[in-house]
Amino acid sequence: MFLSELRQPVVRLQGIGPKTASILSAAGIVTINDILRHYPRSYEDRKLITGFAPALRSAEPVMVNTPAIVTAHEFFGFGEKKTLKIMLEDASGIPASLVCFNRNFLADKLKEGSVILVYGSFQNRYNELQSAGFEFELLNSDSELPQDMPGGDLSAYSREFGRILPVYPLTAGLSQKTLRKAVEHALNEWSANIEDEIPAPLIMEKGLLSKSAALKQIHFPDSMQLLETAEKSLKFEELFHFQFAAARRSFKRKSVNKTAPIRDTKISSGSLEKKLTDSLDFSLTGSQEAVLEEIKTDMHSEHPMSRLLQGDVGSGKTLVAFIAAVNAVEAGGQAAFMAPTELLARQHADNADRLLSPLGLRIALLTGSVKAEKRRLLLEALSRGEIDLVIGTHALFGENVAFKKLSIIIIDEQHRFGVMQRLALTDKNSTADLLLMTATPIPRTLAMTVFGDLDVSTISEMPPGRLPVETHLAAIGKEKKVYDFVRKELNAGRQAYFVYPLISRSDKTALKDAETMFEKLRTRYLNGFSVGLIHSRLDEKAKKDIMDRFRAGEIQVIAATSVVEVGVDVPNATCMIIEHAERFGLSAMHQLRGRVGRGGHQSYAFLVFSPDLTETGAARLKIMKESTDGFYIAEEDLKIRGPGNMSGAEQSGFLPFSIADLNTDFELLKDARKSATWLAGADPGLLQPENRNLRRLFETCPPFSDELMV
Ligand code: ADP
Ligand code: MG
Repeated sequence: MFLSELRQPVVRLQGIGPKTASILSAAGIVTINDILRHYPRSYEDRKLITGFAPALRSAEPVMVNTPAIVTAHEFFGFGEKKTLKIMLEDASGIPASLVCFNRNFLADKLKEGSVILVYGSFQNRYNELQSAGFEFELLNSDSELPQDMPGGDLSAYSREFGRILPVYPLTAGLSQKTLRKAVEHALNEWSANIEDEIPAPLIMEKGLLSKSAALKQIHFPDSMQLLETAEKSLKFEELFHFQFAAARRSFKRKSVNKTAPIRDTKISSGSLEKKLTDSLDFSLTGSQEAVLEEIKTDMHSEHPMSRLLQGDVGSGKTLVAFIAAVNAVEAGGQAAFMAPTELLARQHADNADRLLSPLGLRIALLTGSVKAEKRRLLLEALSRGEIDLVIGTHALFGENVAFKKLSIIIIDEQHRFGVMQRLALTDKNSTADLLLMTATPIPRTLAMTVFGDLDVSTISEMPPGRLPVETHLAAIGKEKKVYDFVRKELNAGRQAYFVYPLISRSDKTALKDAETMFEKLRTRYLNGFSVGLIHSRLDEKAKKDIMDRFRAGEIQVIAATSVVEVGVDVPNATCMIIEHAERFGLSAMHQLRGRVGRGGHQSYAFLVFSPDLTETGAARLKIMKESTDGFYIAEEDLKIRGPGNMSGAEQSGFLPFSIADLNTDFELLKDARKSATWLAGADPGLLQPENRNLRRLFETCPPFSDELMV
């Protein structure tokens, strides 16, 4: 039995009735499997003897765990309200007392001279070390007070009391006691037959625990060392599964043969590509040429391409993708180009129209707003192969979209998509070439692991003549100066973006919002210039209209939210003003800044910040001022946030871990990756006897379904 096969309901556990079961189920705990996977958030160490000394020295309450002897009974208060105080001493003679509110009956139990084990929070009050919340166990009546010094092992006196107890995350209606009992029952009744989920040799080699032992130890550790090993075992297992699924997927893709006609002899002519590059009024950068070679080599190969193309904002990825698409079409295939927003899809479609239609390519735009008859005709044409290049949002890969001979899939700003969306798309033709593009560079450390199954190409060079964007920081209150500067740029014929953290005014914060500032810019600060407003609540037509007019120069200023973050390309814009910049993440700011500096004019970014910014907020602004290098910024971002919180990884749901944490377990991940890649190569079918459990696991209850991976 694998753990996840324990699908019996928790009511099967002793002591769990329908009422507790329904509380548990509200917390997402329905089966035995669920409860065994409900890992503690911390532990109470009732093994380690502390003595009273640490509490005596502290002003704050301190958890105490110690043997003690009852020296006397005292009472305070009068009559009905009389309260028992049990006076104790530990082995070093430090006194303390148990305040027994409503528990005067304890006088009979804890007689003078009794030796007890006590666990509780003790605090210095009224010149005395006291606890009102304590648990205890009475040792045999003839026991002597154990003379162990702090640091000793309490479990020598009671295995029951001297344990390391789990502390679980709780929800309303649940208590530690209930959960502890339930988990303990689950372990006792079910854990013996739980099978390992990684090959035995690996368990040996890495010094891990078996699955069943790891589960026992993570809930009720026999020692802190065993707890550590249990944690490591479960984390390693999870990371190993994750990496194994990725490695297998990558091997699989590399072992299938393309059916797409991209390999046809026709490809080699490259005449369309030449026509396209001849039509440009610039030439490709060396970097663009180089990545194109890599991409073309993949496209000629008999195995499907899985390539991540990274290049900083404005480095010219779109053109590279267009050239790849043109080659695919010339060879007789169809190309699909997906963008994360309708705004961006439209922009790409406009560019494709301009650049590729003259070559004879049949181009279509497919987004959620293409409806009814128009949509029907488009889908029909697509399935008949009468469209060569379709550009769109994820609507491109809706269920009823069929291609005749899809041979390349291009995904722009791939970090914006969820994993499932990407997958749905590769499912259209699992042998199509796949080109993912990102301007949020993935730091090398992360790319190596999380995107380990992709080949990576990097555009490391900007088109010539680009001037780095000058970045200025301005404290709020100084923004008048900024507006004056912008006015000068506008007078010189340039354009500007203003970006705000909110769409509309909110009573809850004093943050500036796009709508209000749109009015103010229009009527006051930039009076006389034409200002447009754009945010995600506008419908697509309104957005398109504003962007078209901005591109045409009819509108000079755009007040916006971060909807303008990705991809928008208007080379005449030279000013990017981000207000409340401290609210934006590094990659968002970098993307926003990338909206300017795309033409021949010197461009400027102004990061307007409020004085109450946090330390990390300040660090981010400093990095933005220091550098325009997306890779450097991404590496710094990684340092600030840790790998588990990187936007690319996080947004794409890449890290569905239940126990591993990339921020802390990065080394373990690398280790797991090594083993996983090795195994996927050495025994891809998992046919060796020692790998059979893994095979059955992936067949019957895959921990990370293949679908989670690209
Ligand atoms: P990104 O990599 O951010 O997607 P784009 O593809 O939008 O960048 O390119 C930014 C701008 O640079 C576009 O206007 C594009 O036409 C232009 N461009 C692309 N390649 C070159 C080049 N080799 N020389 C000059 N301009 C280029
Ligand atoms: Mg782009």
